[in-house]
Parts: sequence; C-alpha cells; structure tokens
Amino acid sequence: MTHATLHSSTASTATREAYELLLTHTREGGLVGGVGSILGWDQETMMPPGGVDYRGKQFALLARIGHQMATNPRVDGWLAVCEGDRAFMEAGSAESAQIRELRRDFTHATRLPETLVTELAEVSSKAQHEWALARKASDFARFRPWLEKLVTLNRSKAACLGIPAGGEPWDALADLYEPECTAASVTQVFVPLREQLRTLLRDLAAGSKKPSNRFNETAMPIDAQMAFARKVVQAIGFDFQRGRLDTSTHPFCGGSHCNDVRMTTRFTETCVNDALGSTMHEAGHGMYEQGLPASAIGTPLGTAVSLGIHESQSRLWENQVGRSMAFWTWCEPHLKNTFGAAAHSFTLEDLYGAANIVEPGFIRVDADEATYNMHVMVRFELERLLMDGSLDPCDLPREWNRRYQEYLGVTVPDDRRGCLQDVHWSMGAFGYFPTYTLGTLYSAQFFDAAKRAIPGLEEGFAKGEFKPLLDWLNREIHTHGRRYRPAELCERVTGSRLSSECYLRYLSGKLRPLYGA
Ligand code: ZN
Repeated sequence: MTHATLHSSTASTATREAYELLLTHTREGGLVGGVGSILGWDQETMMPPGGVDYRGKQFALLARIGHQMATNPRVDGWLAVCEGDRAFMEAGSAESAQIRELRRDFTHATRLPETLVTELAEVSSKAQHEWALARKASDFARFRPWLEKLVTLNRSKAACLGIPAGGEPWDALADLYEPECTAASVTQVFVPLREQLRTLLRDLAAGSKKPSNRFNETAMPIDAQMAFARKVVQAIGFDFQRGRLDTSTHPFCGGSHCNDVRMTTRFTETCVNDALGSTMHEAGHGMYEQGLPASAIGTPLGTAVSLGIHESQSRLWENQVGRSMAFWTWCEPHLKNTFGAAAHSFTLEDLYGAANIVEPGFIRVDADEATYNMHVMVRFELERLLMDGSLDPCDLPREWNRRYQEYLGVTVPDDRRGCLQDVHWSMGAFGYFPTYTLGTLYSAQFFDAAKRAIPGLEEGFAKGEFKPLLDWLNREIHTHGRRYRPAELCERVTGSRLSSECYLRYLSGKLRPLYGA
C-alpha cells in the first residue's frame, strides 16, 4: 500500500477518516478470520477426536461474529464516503482497489440472509459427515438426500447473490471463488482443451515407448520422505521461519497471515513422488501466502486474488518445476543421499520418467498432468446442470460414469471411485472445481512469461537456483494481493488473455518425447 496517495492533499479529511476507520474494522475482521483458520488447521493436524463437538461451536461463533462484522452498516457508510470522493478514487490507485474489493465483499455478505448462511453451514457440516460414511460404503443412495438439500440451498444462494444478465445460477456461485468467472467463459476454454487433450492422450497411448514406473513402486521410509520433502521445499523458497509443514489426511495450505503459513502433506510408504508432488504443490500455495504484503494483512491488498490464481502458484511449483528434467538433475544427488541404497539403482532418466507417467484413472487427486483436467471438466459440466435444474441429483452417478467412459475411456467400478470421491459438493462448494483447471492454464502461461523475463531460468534449477523464479512471482503476482482481478493480472503479467495454448505446448513438448509419440 502506498500511503503517499492516501495522504495526498486531494483526498478530503472526511475521506481519510472514513478510510482509516474502514481499514481498522476490516483488519479486525481479518483477525477473526485468522483465528478460525488456525483452529481449522489445528482440527486437521493436532486436535484429539474428543474436541470435535466443541470445535464446531467455536467455528459457529467465529462465523457469526465474522458475518456480523462483514455486514455492519457502518461499512456501507465508510465505503460510500470514499466512493464519493473522486480524487481519492483515482483509477489505478492502491486505495481505490481496496475500496472496490471491500465493496465487493460487503455486497456478497449482505446479499446472503443470515438464515440461509446458518442453514447452509449446518446442512453442509452434517452432509460432510454423511458423505464420508456414504463414500466408505460406496453408497450413493445414502448421500442423495443430502446432495438434494445442498443443491436446493445453493440454488437459493445463487438467486440471493444475483445471477448476472444473460448468465446462469452457476455463475453467481463461481464468482465467489473466481471473480468474473462465468460458465460461458469456462466452456469457451474447456471445449477446445478437451479435444486437444483427447488427441494427446490417444497419441501417448499409441506411442513407441513408456517411462518406467518402478521408482513409484519402491518403498521408502516415511521419516526419510519427510526430511526429503522439507529439504526440497526449503530449497525452492518456503520460509520455515514464517510457516510450518505438518501431516494431514488431505493436504492443504492454511494459516492466518503471510508470517504464519500452515501447510500439510501426506506420505505413502510406496511412492516418494506422491509426497514430493503434494508437498511442492502446497509449498506453492504457501509461498504465495508468504509473498503477500505484511503491511496489508487482513485487507484485500494483503489477500490472494482468487482460487484460480492460487492454484496457478501451486501447480507451477509442482509441475513446471517439480516434473522438469532440470529439477531432477538438481534433485537426484539429494534423493540418493537421503534414501541411500534403495535409490541408487535409478538413473536420472528413470526419475524424470517416473515423475511424468500418464495413466487414465478414476481419481482426480491421483491424476497425472495430461488426464487431470478431464476430471475437472466432468465435475464442471455436472455441477452446472445441477445448478440450473436440468440434472436431477438421482441421475448423478449415471451421468458421471458416462462421461468418464467418454473422456477418459475408463469404466467407473463403484460410486466410491466415482461421484462420491470428492468432498467439495458435500461442503456446499459448487462453482469451485474449474479453478483447478484455470490455475493449471495460468501456471503454464505465467511460467512462459517467467522464462522470457529470466534468461537461463531452467538451467538454474539444475544448480538449485530457484530464487530468481520466486522473486519474479513475488514481484509480478504475490505482492499485489487483490489489486488486480484475475483476468487483468494475467494480461499484465503475460501480455495476453488466458488461453490453453501455453499449457498444451508445454504438455505436448514434454510428454511426446517421453512416450515416443
Ligand atoms: Zn491446490
């Protein structure tokens, strides 16, 4: 934030006062949110099972306080004073961006009646519990009534938020995760991407060779995996003075602000690449959070732009860096040092190949780079239909399985490995899934821009030089917080609008030689 503009003589005293009061109030809201976030991290990593019920009450209280603060009518008044001062709202200034984003947050918060917010929180907390049981038993019928409730509630939520002119219910929900994202704009990107990915997958399957999967099937001790994962994420730039790495069932990255980032990972004895990939992924999220400006903690300029941009950072470190030959050139001796004899029989080519195996499967979170986006597309199409009412929840398994056959050529064996695999819908999160693919596309486009800006970038990875990339990401993306919306940020950083071109070129350029296709 530049206080120079704030204290310029052009803004009136009344505006400056309103702005300061507004930011003080916003930062306090950020404190409440941060406390909730640390409790959430604690629940997934440290809390004994006995804490569940009381933790639920703690969350509910924080959510109510947060909602009351966010909808406080004084916020509207302060915003109106700032918005009415044309000199203060000078286009492009940091302060005008704060006001624009705070208005957006206030509008979202006030459009949702407290009864709907409470009902959604209650139903989704129960639905998550029921989903976990239904998934375990692979019993869709058990989850169906909860899905029906959540679909109905989310259709109401979309109506309250306001469906944009010419748009559809899905758009109103997606905008919460990815500002200005619409089903039409996603479809425009996804349809050609799907066709090109199908061609690539067909060619890879018919290729003249296949990398060895042996490294991914070699057991390594979990302690050594943890030490190795820590070493790698420290080397790429995650700051352990301002963050932690722990383990949880589902890896995530949370924390309360840029100087206290909590990320988690998980380990399986048989596959180092699982843990390495998920740790580098979460470190990408974590380094984004650590790169947000400390001066703006708790305000929009100290907050990530969107889930899609967040995901671009995690994907970039996981894939463009972590699955590259240059990275493995640096990594190989460290891997052999850490794991000793068990790792010595693998050549650099073996390790690089094992990081880039392509194999269509049922599970999104286990998917490789080439098939991953197909999983996302299936979910996007289905949630769009659920939200506009043209798909009855009882037909979900059939429609899910049909698309898996069509897009990935696999026959889904049961609902556990089918439409019950992801937690998102049970949490009431509709409109979220495409941010995974948007993030993947952004990551390739950002990485291309970084390569243009930093000569010898990838050669540097081979020598363990990752700082030039992190510095560039800090400068171009992280430090701006929510100053620019995703589409504008993308154009500023890469010089063009988001498209799948860079991603397809990257993927094809890497995988075709590996598969002789
Ligand atoms: Zn992620």
